[in-house]
Amino acid sequence: MTTPAPALYWLSRDFRFSDNAALNAALGHGPVLVVFLLDRQTREQGAASRWRLQRALEVFDAGLKRRSGQGVMILRGEAEEVFPALVQLTGARMVHQNDWPSPQMRQAQSHLREALRSVAGELKLYTGHLLASPQRIRTGQGGAFRVFTPFARALRRAGADRPRPDAPRQFAAAEPPAEVHGLTVLPLSGLNLAPDLHRGAAVLERFALPAGEAAAFERLDQFFDRAGPYPEARDRPDIDACSGLSEHLALGEISPRSLWALASLRAEADSAPGPGGAAAAGVEKFLSEVIWREFAWHLLLEDPQLTSLPWRRDWSGFPWRGEGEDLQRWQRGETGIALVDAGLREMWVTGRMHNRVRMVVASWLTKHLLIDWRLGLRHFENCLTDWDPASNAMNWQWVAGCGPDASPFFRIFNPETQAAKFDPKGQYRARWLAGWQGGRTTPEAAAFLASLPSDWRVSAPWAGASGALLQSGRSRALEEYRRFKDSDADSPGAAAESERLNFLRDFI
Ligand SMILES: Cc1cc2nc3c(=O)[nH]c(=O)nc-3n(C[C@H](O)[C@H](O)[C@H](O)COP(=O)(O)OP(=O)(O)OC[C@H]3O[C@@H](n4cnc5c(N)ncnc54)[C@H](O)[C@@H]3O)c2cc1C
Repeated sequence: MTTPAPALYWLSRDFRFSDNAALNAALGHGPVLVVFLLDRQTREQGAASRWRLQRALEVFDAGLKRRSGQGVMILRGEAEEVFPALVQLTGARMVHQNDWPSPQMRQAQSHLREALRSVAGELKLYTGHLLASPQRIRTGQGGAFRVFTPFARALRRAGADRPRPDAPRQFAAAEPPAEVHGLTVLPLSGLNLAPDLHRGAAVLERFALPAGEAAAFERLDQFFDRAGPYPEARDRPDIDACSGLSEHLALGEISPRSLWALASLRAEADSAPGPGGAAAAGVEKFLSEVIWREFAWHLLLEDPQLTSLPWRRDWSGFPWRGEGEDLQRWQRGETGIALVDAGLREMWVTGRMHNRVRMVVASWLTKHLLIDWRLGLRHFENCLTDWDPASNAMNWQWVAGCGPDASPFFRIFNPETQAAKFDPKGQYRARWLAGWQGGRTTPEAAAFLASLPSDWRVSAPWAGASGALLQSGRSRALEEYRRFKDSDADSPGAAAESERLNFLRDFI
């Protein structure tokens, strides 16, 4: 008896068995061979998110072994070389993949399609990384939305796509071939996707949240139980009020469709008269944050250069400052501004940073220091475990002033007022800044100091930023902005913009 040809499933950023359309489809075609690629796009992604990706891969591999007795086959190489070779070696015809619609993946898919043609193979793509297909969420004129509020309204009206049935608990998987001619097969044991993680895996490991699909569902469930205060408390970095689901979503350990379906059920149950009303409002607000993630992906699909060019192209000539000492100090959490430094240190040690602090930190870089948002974006990309190309780019552009729904350039976060409002007792700053206000050094702050590369010398007195310092940065930013707008005086809207700036100037 001959063994049936396997169906190939390309595991990429979808480390889950639930709502996994590509895996389910592959299972309908024969024993499945699950393949993960250490390809260029993965090698070039930031170190912390690669480290987190490996944890996702390990948990998924264990789940696959439990269900099928086989593990994930890991190969070093590009899809266009690996899959045609596997097609020829195994007799498989189709490669099934849940789409991860980043520009790099789009390019890899197009090269793969071309290469598969010569071996009579085919790439089949399935949805699951987004709530809804961008074709379904269009303006009245059929275009893509450029503003968040109408986008969110349209998405709520159209509804999210339904999750697909889960993969069976037990299924047949193909035994991975021991070797594939000309390609390197990598055993999972001993694999290190992030050898360049300067601060070391041990630092991230210490503060890591549990990885994997089961952890994602458990975290979501626990979040529902404490969602009541979320609408207000989500802005407080000193309180654990947010869901902590971003890593799971970035790696597809839970699909946004499953999350949406469960959250909608929960909001419905909680909105019945009784004490659940606050929880329902919390879940609703949480869903609107998830729509921000969706908006970011729809924008990236519409403008694949969102990560490298200003979304408002008329910002192309803005005279941003480049690399140098100011950038380095910012990266090291050594600006002397307590909330900014605390955030950057939190990210260095944990791979995470609270959303409110991300905004303050990004505003300090792009407005006070006038440094190019792309340099901040790259630092985040390297340090975040929840790195997501769309959310990272949209948010950096939003803060810098050149993105959609941008906070206007003259809206400059004052880190001291932000700190007073959102970290009123200083608990967040005390956690991350050793010796802040004469307090004891917390384990978190000690972990930061212990993790520093030997050539870093970090010290920053946090006496509180003087009004003069804040004012001078703000004035410089506004001056640059005015000069830039004046040099662009012929552009449509420039006169109105200039008038608006004059009007607002006194109020900032
Ligand atoms: C400069 C900057 C860079 C960012 N880079 C990333 C990134 O690389 N990856 C990433 O996942 N998020 C990014 N964000 C968005 C946001 O900070 C994180 O999603 C959030 O802090 C994750 O924590 P949480 O899961 O507890 O969020 P919750 O408050 O529990 O929100 C639930 C989910 O909604 C989504 N969400 C929440 N806020 C936003 C937002 N502003 N934009 C897009 N989606 C949002 C996330 O998927 C999140 O998991 C960035 C924000 C800023 C200001």
